[in-house]
Order: sequence, then structure tokens, then C-alpha cells
Amino acid sequence: MKTQTSFHPDEKGFYGDFGGAYVPEMLYPNVKELQEKYLDILEDSAFREEYRRLLNDYAGRPTPLYPAARLSSHYGTHVYLKREDLTHTGAHKINNALGQILLAQRLGKRRIIAETGAGQHGVATATVCARMGMSCTVYMGALDVQRQRPNVERMKLLGATVVPVHSGNQTLKDAVNEALRDWITHPEETYYLIGSTVGPHPYPDLVARLQSVISEELLWQFPRQSGRDLPDAVLACVGGGSNASGVFYHYLDKPQVRLLAAEAGGQGVATGHTAATIALGRTGILHGCRSYVIQDDDGQITEPYSVSAGLDYPGIGPLLSHLHATGRAAFYAVTDDEALAATRLLARLEGIIPALESAHALALLEKIPFTADDHIIINLSGRGDKDMETILKHIGE
Ligand SMILES: *Cc1c(COP(=O)(O)O)cnc(C)c1O
Repeated sequence: MKTQTSFHPDEKGFYGDFGGAYVPEMLYPNVKELQEKYLDILEDSAFREEYRRLLNDYAGRPTPLYPAARLSSHYGTHVYLKREDLTHTGAHKINNALGQILLAQRLGKRRIIAETGAGQHGVATATVCARMGMSCTVYMGALDVQRQRPNVERMKLLGATVVPVHSGNQTLKDAVNEALRDWITHPEETYYLIGSTVGPHPYPDLVARLQSVISEELLWQFPRQSGRDLPDAVLACVGGGSNASGVFYHYLDKPQVRLLAAEAGGQGVATGHTAATIALGRTGILHGCRSYVIQDDDGQITEPYSVSAGLDYPGIGPLLSHLHATGRAAFYAVTDDEALAATRLLARLEGIIPALESAHALALLEKIPFTADDHIIINLSGRGDKDMETILKHIGE
């Protein structure tokens, strides 16, 4: 019998209406192998031990839960920041990359491929490949290669091969297509390391489980910091949905905890220059799963836009779509300007420069009236050093 227990996918990878594995027939064997083996590997005690050790000793976990006193008094509420910005490579993406490379090793794969848009996932992947001595090929739209020079140089220094993709719009979705083509061509030795809670089943569940370490730590950190069992709300930004899935994970079945998500409104949801998938998207199939997708009337994927490269994605993971459809999480579109203002505010009040992605979650403090009694956690998914050029261009000194 099929039962949809809370917010875990069924055996076909569906969260309600969203998810599944829509892949070309030639990819079935790869995807099927992963579907059959990932849970056993993830739950194996030797795997868990090695993963935990790398998260602690290499990536710098547990990350602090920081009570942001000045930000709290500015907004008249209690704000705690989960400091994923303090991890090795500067964002939550390392949690996922480390877990998947251990999984690839246990599947006997020698060669890692990945796609990247902004380059952050490419850097995380190149990092863990260097650490494990594995070969790494990263597909990246040719336009993104130009826009994200420093990350391309980082990947190369780490020993990865970066392949510019010249087809289509030369951005992320074209890079995904090339990565899939590579995977079909070299199925035996290759592992495709996906960077967010997107793609065919089991990737969304796999990535959510790996990122769930974020809220696993909160289960003991939050009571210690606040003297309360549960926060009133947990806030995160959403690109594909991996940092949100990770920080929401252990609160999904606690309905008294509000889950609030910020997607990239870009220049405004009505301007056509946006990545607000929940606000504008319709159900469709993108990158091997059914979810909300920003598309035109002919079903063509619309090129997304956001000031933050990491939120610049025309889809959203199936778990997040399900959280929206069921009302478990509330979604808000945050514009570039709102995110930039939040960046400046955090820098000035707390001495922390957030990633522009993370600043979208911080900007929710302006939109949602929290009370003096509320205790809220914001996932600070990454640090803003990578965004300095963009930040200065928009807000000056
Ligand atoms: C990539 C990235 C995101 C968006 O990706 P999700 O999978 O939605 O988490 C958010 N913040 C930072 C710092 C990133 O690098």
C-alpha cells in the first residue's frame, strides 16, 4: 500500500504531485542503481561515521547558532542566525558535496561530473574531488564562465576540468543538459553530483537528507541558546531548495514552527526579470522531475534573473513545491533591492557580510511582522565575499 507519510517522498520519488524521475531511457540504469542503493549507504554506520568526521574536521561543523542581538533589537524580536557561511568554501553546499562523494566512492565510481551556474556548487564539487583524489569535470554555460571568472579559476586551481557549454542560452540549464549527456555516454565509471534538491529521484531526497545536518544541529543548539524547545519560525532563501530543505527538515512535522521561504523576485515578479518560481511558475518537468517551473505559454523555460547568481534558477525542488501546495511553508518573493538593503543592514549591525542569496531570507524581516515574543532562526546559507563586486556596483560604499 502506498502511504504518503508526512513530507518524505514515496518509493517513486513523489512528494504529493511533485518529483519522480523523468529521464531518457538510457539513463534508467544509472538512476535505478542510485535509487536502489542510496538509503542503505546513507544509513550504513561506517558511512555515517566517515561523513560526520569530514563534516566536523574538514568542513568546520557544527556551525554556530548565533543570537544576533543588534539585528534583534532593530526588528523588536529574537533573531538567531545559523552560520552556514562559516563552513569551508563559505556556504552550505559543502555538506552535500561531501556526502555525495562518499556515496560515489561506495558505488565504485572514479569520475565525478557536475553542472554549475554561479560556480558555487562547482567549487564545492572540485573541493571534495581534490580531497578524495577523484577526477572532476564541471559543465558550465559559456556565459556563466565569463560572469563567474573567480569561481572558474578556483575550480581549475583545485584540479577540475571546466567545460564551457555553448548551446542554448549558455547558462545553467544548458550545462545540465551537457552533464546528462556525459552521464549517458560514460555510465559505468561516472557519478553525477547534483548540487541542490532537484533532478530525478532520488536526488531531491538524497540532497535534503545530507543537508538535514543543519536542522539536526539546531535541535540541540536552539534550546541551549533560547531556553525554548522550538523556534516560532525558520527562514531560508530558495534557489533549488537545498539549504531550505536542510534547515526545515527536522521541523517539517512540527506544525507549530512556521516555515518561511524567500525566492528571488529579481527586479519584481511582474517585470519579466525574476526567478520567483512559486509566484509565477506552473507545473512542468525540468531536469528530470515534476515541479513548478517558470515557462512561457508554449511551455518554453523562461531565462531566470536575480542579482544573486545562486538563486537564478527557473525551477524549484519538488519538496519545496509540495510544501507550498500543502501550505506547510509560506513563500515570498524578495527583490534585488530588498536583498541588497538587507545585506548592508547585516554588515552594519552585526559585522557579517551575507551572501546575496542569504540576504533574501534576511529581507523577510521587513515583510513579516514578528513580535517581541517570537524567536526565529534564519539560515545564513553563505558568506558575501564572492558578491563584493556586485554589492559595490549596486549600493556603493
Ligand atoms: C547555491 C546557494 C543557494 C541556493 O541554493 P539552494 O539549493 O536553494 O540552497 C543559497 N545560498 C547560497 C550561499 C548558495 O551558494
